[in-house]
Amino acid sequence: MSDLLIMTPGPTEVSEEVRRAMSRKITNPDLDPEFFDFYLDVSSKLQQVMRTKNDVIIMSGEGILGLESACASLIEPGDRVLVLDNGIFGRGFADFADLYGADVIRWEFPYNQEIDIDKLEAKVAEENDFKFATFVHCETPTGVINNAEEITNLLNRHNILSVVDSVSAIGGVPIEVDKWGIDIILGGSQKCLSVPPGLTFMSVSNAAWKAVNNRETAVRGYYTNLQLWQNWYEEKYFPYTQAVSDIYALDAALDKWLADKEVFERHSRIAAAVRESIRQSNLNLYAEDGYSDTVTAIEIPEGISYQELNQLMTESHNVMIAASLGEFEDKLIRIGHMGENCYEEKLYRTLKAFDHSLRELGFALNVELHKIFVNEMN
Ligand SMILES: *Cc1c(COP(=O)(O)O)cnc(C)c1O
Repeated sequence: MSDLLIMTPGPTEVSEEVRRAMSRKITNPDLDPEFFDFYLDVSSKLQQVMRTKNDVIIMSGEGILGLESACASLIEPGDRVLVLDNGIFGRGFADFADLYGADVIRWEFPYNQEIDIDKLEAKVAEENDFKFATFVHCETPTGVINNAEEITNLLNRHNILSVVDSVSAIGGVPIEVDKWGIDIILGGSQKCLSVPPGLTFMSVSNAAWKAVNNRETAVRGYYTNLQLWQNWYEEKYFPYTQAVSDIYALDAALDKWLADKEVFERHSRIAAAVRESIRQSNLNLYAEDGYSDTVTAIEIPEGISYQELNQLMTESHNVMIAASLGEFEDKLIRIGHMGENCYEEKLYRTLKAFDHSLRELGFALNVELHKIFVNEMN
């Protein structure tokens, strides 16, 4: 397994610096005063990535914990919550909101396109009495990215708080939390920042804090209760013992990210070249627009199953790409070109393995994917 190249849209490959950081000697994070300063410093690096002065919280748990915490902390039974749904994660927000007693209003948009801002504008003009709205920045299962800036601006004009799942976009595409006015943005360690799974992080605006605090009923959760995080630094108190080694890893990954002046340009160039290789072939991209620079979803040709493709790719070519989720599970394969995965040589190896595996399975590819990719990169 050691040289298997993990080209999935999370978890992504983890660099050696980050893996080494995890092996550093740990401290007691509840008692060591230096750890609080260290945690604050890591938060400030995340503020730089997300371009915000809002409070940043890093929680021990996978990305889903962030999504659930936002819902648990904001929602009181009967609150009207707007769920913008143009993908599986978007739709999934409705389940969390429902779990915490919200009156959920879900607006569905086509899954193979970014949310049409004019259509959204027309709907919001008619109905806008929502406590907050949720949407997904990048729909990882389908590779569609939404225009977070336009959607948030629109919500702000109607005084609707925004909760944005940017788990698979933060670090791979530019994000301006303060300029765009995002109230809560959610991220995870194992996507574009290329830290092992285990952490979720978020920024919380003053308006979001106000909504979290001005509740009549108690938050129905402890681990998911954001109220407990408000004065952690002043009080030198964490609600639970922090995952020290995971945060060491995040810190090392953030140093690497902040020193990388080409990170967005590289994501954009590589994603464009991957898409072009598919476009020039007789394969099909799933999306019609809103292509994400972090993940590409490709239709699996008729007669081929993800299982056999994956087996061949991992066993004969040492590359792993991902299936999709839900109703797309057998229909799409996904290449994650985010974070540590986003280097030309890794995509070359991936596309070559994909190309050869498809041929071995009897699909008559009309071009060589890896060669088009390299041409596009030059
Ligand atoms: C990865 C991801 C999450 C976290 O969920 P897991 O499936 O448990 O990894 C949440 N939202 C999005 C958009 C993601 O890509």
